[in-house]
Amino acid sequence: MGIDFTDDVSYEPIVTTSFVREDMGEQTLRPRFLSEYNGQEKAKSSLEISIEAARMRKEPLDHILLYGPPGLGKTTLAGIIANEMGSNIRITSGPAIEKAGDLAALLTNLAEGDILFIDEIHRLNRNIEEILYPAMEDYALDIIIGKGPSANSIRLDLQSFTLIGATTRAGQLSAPLRERFGMTLRLDLYTVQELQKIVLRSAGILGVEIEPGGAAEIAARSRGTPRIANRLLRRIRDYAQVRAEGVITREVADEALRRLEIDEIGLDATDRNMLLSIIRNYGGGPVGLETLAATVGEEAITLEDVYEPYLLQLGFLSRTPRGRCATRLAYEHLGIEADFQTQMKL
Ligand code: ADP
Repeated sequence: MGIDFTDDVSYEPIVTTSFVREDMGEQTLRPRFLSEYNGQEKAKSSLEISIEAARMRKEPLDHILLYGPPGLGKTTLAGIIANEMGSNIRITSGPAIEKAGDLAALLTNLAEGDILFIDEIHRLNRNIEEILYPAMEDYALDIIIGKGPSANSIRLDLQSFTLIGATTRAGQLSAPLRERFGMTLRLDLYTVQELQKIVLRSAGILGVEIEPGGAAEIAARSRGTPRIANRLLRRIRDYAQVRAEGVITREVADEALRRLEIDEIGLDATDRNMLLSIIRNYGGGPVGLETLAATVGEEAITLEDVYEPYLLQLGFLSRTPRGRCATRLAYEHLGIEADFQTQMKL
């Protein structure tokens, strides 16, 4: 029967940088130590020093805030920090902590030196967040007993622990929470060379035969994001198996990606739709994010978190106080003539 690549409705969209069913095997591809973690040199070298110093002092690591677009390796890095420190890690997320009691229970169950990882920490409810302040600062939990004038506050000691928070939007974190992190590390989109190494490493783990040119092709079309690179690798592996005796060459990768409607620099139908809407419907911009989202039929938050980082990095999009604009490079890539004389705003 084989797989029909022209109509693969069973798959979820490729470009989404958030975790989807298709990424289930992600765990096996996760690097476990800093030495296996490609790229993010700045973040890695800060971490190396802090980990080494904390180990020497036999103290827990300072609280760390990781921020950057989804799929760049924040969760992976938290796991690596735990491995490097020889600590246990507990993983939760902002939206999963519904009540103050949930967080109090998590904190009181931590052992000395444990790591608590809170993904999407910007989505933590503000009332619940306040519990974290004394916990982060003094390893203490303040519990209010009773109500009204007779209410009493008692303080429980916690074991010393490290909080690692991850967020796609550092700007949405409240100032008191942000200030309590000793270290803030920003993750950037990866270069093609870094992604190529990641693809080769993943192919090795998955037992996929791939040529360097095939890995380079996938890397160039993964919009700077390891999660997407791994996802594309899995899809192309299927294609190579069915159509090309299992070996991913540059040609095989190119053909498979073309069938997935991913162009030579990694843009998909939504990227193109977004840029074309700005150009055709709004004269190149500026257009507000909400309006643009309604025009292309996506949520504003998806455009902002998933699509924009790469388009901004390519220099195809600019953000102005009045909205988004398509740049000259975007026109060129789409093969559209621009009348820049009349578009002084660009
Ligand atoms: P985030 O938490 O930022 O959304 P993840 O940590 O879940 O991202 O990473 C997504 C996938 O990308 C992981 O399964 C991992 O295999 C891969 N990955 C991320 N960063 C790297 C890296 N630096 N080197 C190799 N693989 C990576």
